[in-house]
Amino acid sequence: MYKRLHILVVILLLIGCKENSEQNSTDFTESETSISTPQKENFGIVIHGGAGTILKKNMTPEKEAEYRAKLEEAIRAGYTILEAGGTSLDAITATIQVMENSPLFNAGKGAVFTNEGTNELDTSIMDGKTLNAGAAAGVTTVKNPILLARAIMDSSEHVMMAREGAEKFAKEQGLEIVDPSYFYTENRYKSLERIKEREKTELDHDGQASFYDPIIKDSKFGTVGCVALDKDGNLAAGTSTGGMTNKRWGRIGDSPVIGAGTYANNKTCAISSTGWGEYFIRGVIAYDISAMMEYGNKTLAEASSLVIQDKLSKMGGDGGIIGIDHEGNAVMEFNTAGMYRASMNRKGELYVGIYGDTE
Ligand code: ASP
Repeated sequence: MYKRLHILVVILLLIGCKENSEQNSTDFTESETSISTPQKENFGIVIHGGAGTILKKNMTPEKEAEYRAKLEEAIRAGYTILEAGGTSLDAITATIQVMENSPLFNAGKGAVFTNEGTNELDTSIMDGKTLNAGAAAGVTTVKNPILLARAIMDSSEHVMMAREGAEKFAKEQGLEIVDPSYFYTENRYKSLERIKEREKTELDHDGQASFYDPIIKDSKFGTVGCVALDKDGNLAAGTSTGGMTNKRWGRIGDSPVIGAGTYANNKTCAISSTGWGEYFIRGVIAYDISAMMEYGNKTLAEASSLVIQDKLSKMGGDGGIIGIDHEGNAVMEFNTAGMYRASMNRKGELYVGIYGDTE
């Protein structure tokens, strides 16, 4: 019975992969072996460093090389752990830390600024084996928020903590605490000033109701995320962000919301999102992909394409996801001009991408 079901899944996977464009999907399986033997020892890892208006014409060769190098460094950190038989949770935690420590991405060191000129960080992690999860929102002093999400999952009876309470817990757990000024970067501060300037103009012309739209549609969402499948067949997903530039009133995006920004379930897939968070929350984007696989018999490639290209786009939302399924098939799906992304399969084959069709 299991074997017949397995064959059906593989056939569906092959159909799904054929329909999906090469640019957004990487097949980590070898079809001959996947039919005759279960996917033991299969593993893989996928990352994103944010989606948005990322165009080659706006990028210098030096900047592009910097992004590619950091994406590679980050994914190799997790890959090394997986290759040595480590857990997907350890792999994604290590990978996300590398990106949090880089000013290139909107997470940790490179976090964007709120309207008040502060940096408020959101993060989450989920274990596909136990469906346990941890999340923190609005923290300002935790150097590596992904470690806080992990500590909340592993060492507390809660799933989500916010602001001062989350910071108190981080201290108690012995996590590295920094002065909020650690998160200051000149580039991000200039972005805040530019957006505030534009906001004034947009307001003058269009009025309150629509002023966010053109600004956000022009943004680069630099959130980071990682999903992985380990050799034991366990999936995990994690996401970390500074949110959106100029956010106000304690705004919290999708990144710390389980089911929207992050989701993992060994039965289906692991997903991490990036983009205009309000839409990802309302569309329950990460869980929706998993649910389509669990209840609708869709492949990861089919479900991701439907949710991002059809559902999210029709809602008016911008962004993308990375995903990996329980057999090691990976997707990188986005409806924006580009998405910083990378993947590695069990053979050690590395893919690094930044732009969309033009790449
Ligand atoms: N999704 C994040 C948020 O809305 C932003 C991003 O992906 O960069 O907070």
